[in-house]
Amino acid sequence: MKKMTIDGNTAASHVAYAFSEVAAIYPITPSSPMAEVADEWATAGRVNMFGQKLRLAEMQSEGGAAGAVHGSLSAGALTTTYTASQGLLLMIPNMYKIAGELLPTVFHVSARAIAAHSLNIFGDHQDVMACRQTGFAMLASGSVQEVMDLALVAHLSTLKAKVPFLHFFDGFRTSHEVSKIDVIDYDEMKALVDMKDIDDFKSRALNPEHPIQKGTAQNGDTYFQNRETANKYYLATPAIVQEMMDKVSKLTGRNYHLFDYCGAPDAENVVVIMGSGADAMEETINRMNKEGHKVGLVKVRLYRPFVADAFVAALPKTCKKIAVLDRTKEPGSLGEPLYLDVCSALFEKGINKIKVVGGRYGLGSKEFNPSMCYAVYKNLESKNPKNHFTVGIYDDLTNTSLDFSEKYDAAPEGAISCKFYGLGSDGTVGANKDSIKIIGDHTDMYAQAYFFYDSKKSGGITVSHLRFGKTPIQSSYLIDSADFIACHNPSYITRYDMLTDAKEGGKFLLNSPWNTLEELEKNLPAKVKQQIAKKHLKFYNIDGIGIASQIGLNGKTSTIMQSAFFFINDSIMPYEQAADFMKKAVYKKFSRKGDAVVNMNYAAIDSAKSGLVEVKYPESWATATDGAPMVSVANNEYFKNVVHPILVLEGDKLPTSAFNADGSVPVGTTKFEKRGVAVKVPKWVAENCIQCNQCSFVCPHACIRPVVIDDATEKPETFATKPTTGLKGTQFRMQVSPLDCMGCGVCANICPGMKGNKALVMVPLDEVVEADAKNWEFAQEVKQADTSSIKRTTVKGSQFNQPLFEFSGACAGCGETPYVKVVTQMFGDRMVIA
Ligand code: SF4
Ligand code: SF4
Repeated sequence: MKKMTIDGNTAASHVAYAFSEVAAIYPITPSSPMAEVADEWATAGRVNMFGQKLRLAEMQSEGGAAGAVHGSLSAGALTTTYTASQGLLLMIPNMYKIAGELLPTVFHVSARAIAAHSLNIFGDHQDVMACRQTGFAMLASGSVQEVMDLALVAHLSTLKAKVPFLHFFDGFRTSHEVSKIDVIDYDEMKALVDMKDIDDFKSRALNPEHPIQKGTAQNGDTYFQNRETANKYYLATPAIVQEMMDKVSKLTGRNYHLFDYCGAPDAENVVVIMGSGADAMEETINRMNKEGHKVGLVKVRLYRPFVADAFVAALPKTCKKIAVLDRTKEPGSLGEPLYLDVCSALFEKGINKIKVVGGRYGLGSKEFNPSMCYAVYKNLESKNPKNHFTVGIYDDLTNTSLDFSEKYDAAPEGAISCKFYGLGSDGTVGANKDSIKIIGDHTDMYAQAYFFYDSKKSGGITVSHLRFGKTPIQSSYLIDSADFIACHNPSYITRYDMLTDAKEGGKFLLNSPWNTLEELEKNLPAKVKQQIAKKHLKFYNIDGIGIASQIGLNGKTSTIMQSAFFFINDSIMPYEQAADFMKKAVYKKFSRKGDAVVNMNYAAIDSAKSGLVEVKYPESWATATDGAPMVSVANNEYFKNVVHPILVLEGDKLPTSAFNADGSVPVGTTKFEKRGVAVKVPKWVAENCIQCNQCSFVCPHACIRPVVIDDATEKPETFATKPTTGLKGTQFRMQVSPLDCMGCGVCANICPGMKGNKALVMVPLDEVVEADAKNWEFAQEVKQADTSSIKRTTVKGSQFNQPLFEFSGACAGCGETPYVKVVTQMFGDRMVIA
């Protein structure tokens, strides 16, 4: 066993690879990395515990993947798959077949929400709960370490029990959390395998040497009793799981049971939960019990088969009230599945003195933190605890929600917490993954990293949450009290409230071109200055963008910021040592791209030290009233009340009444977003423009458009134009919306210009934003001249029509959105896209 800093998906894949000859896959977020790393390992020649390379087959859908697993198992190959959400639902028909034929396998599932009123790619248990009737045993892991340990339990158990297993852990929260854990070696795993189980499985395979027939049809006379013959396998499964848990516990020193109780031995109020929420709960009860409460927690490991005896045995004898927390929703049901199981277990065991309430939490990765855990116990402690409650939201429609406004900090003393605000695909997340590996692998500290992404992916905001400390980290929730905060994008300073979460005396690192006090005075909003001064933050600035363009890294600032982080926080490890590790990581990542790229990144690491400025701000900042205004919000009711809070990361505060029950939303609100995320934007050079409109045609975000106005139209001074080719009496301009532009440069690339001189050049946003933002507004409102004589079915002509698909949240430079956009320009609002 060795310590490594890895994520939950890699932990699951590590174990699955050991036990598999075949993997049939169809990647789906957030399970994709499990298949991706397995593929990488197979390509690199890694072998499983039996010395074989994994054969990986990507199918046409998850249904096909599950079908291939079924076929492969039938042929006697140890087979696995990885999936989530709707992908898992597509596997259900084959799961019945696999279970019905007692074929041992493990499906590793990074549990994810189901697309219902809207899509959601994040974590909850709705997908796995839709499989509880398929005949698969279900084992839940709540942390990256548990994924490693219980994936092993699942593979060992399925071989002996013959019952297939669904091993699940929370999408993103566990699948993508990077954590320092004990990684079990394949030799250690192999020592736990009973080879007779594998021989037995292989002997049941379809084989022409001893033919059998499977998958027959049965009528009413025989189907039922044949179905019941599998009972004994399910009855035997829990004891087998416990036996394998004991083996794994002996190996690892970490104890696992079908249900694990923790908390006060004489607790009266007990919560039952499974998945990552259990760790936040455990932190909370540890503090509550120190404060004199008597509370406890049952962590459900083996959810199917559900063993009532083991559940009841896990409860303290003193238990009077139970709150069962489900991370799923079953509209119309008497209660969510775990709640119903607990009620049935107590009823079957004749226990009627314990009051049971059920609640929902954490749907679609809704935050679940100690304040919410505390609210659940407070509810239990009340005289009449609310039943069928929700926690983590404000339900002002059906009043199900518990009040969690009392802040409860349960994080253990001594852990350091850091938050980094970055832009999707600016490299911040990758750099932080490297940083946590450096800290985890090269210090004696435990380390945890979790990454928040908005659904816009590239170009959306990312917030990296890093914790490290001397004890294992159980905090399975976002950081709301940080020792260090870094803002990697200067435009965020007038958009997001980043410093409310800064601790008194903490550190703040800003990436901005404002290196002097005067510039910062002007460009920081008053509120930010107040927060810095009132909390006595150590404040650093670095002109990452300027340094990057000097080095030739053009806008890529993440390595500079990573180096600055280590320089400021040299208590983690001496800076020179950290710089060495960063350089090794850079070499590993970029050596294939050549020395020039590697050297540029080395220079980025070295430049951080000299580029960093500690800002000695005056005390008067504490009462500052002037500075840059926060970004103004468009005067549109829906945008102001719903979209804008979401954009500034305050969507958690929206009550249920803010939404339509069917998930429908008004159209055309992206135009109000004005994200201002581009580092460089195109500037139009009129004299070089041949008016071909190709730039507008290819822009994935519809933020560069031709404008044609009559000669006589009054216009702003900066609104330069040139006579329109072929349309006498009119003026042409190519107008960019700098605050909507993503800076991908696709328009400037395509621009043919005149005689080799481009008519679009990429310039820093700051250079043009003031004038061009106003020019864009003018262009949207001004009366356009008649351009109908230009054929609408040409590249040029199509661009004079209003795009009805604009400012998409696609990745910068997306190759798909220009097609959707141009279709809307050609066919208008009577077109239906399905
Ligand atoms: S840089 Fe990209 S997003 Fe910006 S206008 Fe050009 S094509 Fe559109
Ligand atoms: S692609 Fe270049 S030349 Fe053509 S319209 Fe756009 S700016 Fe002008």
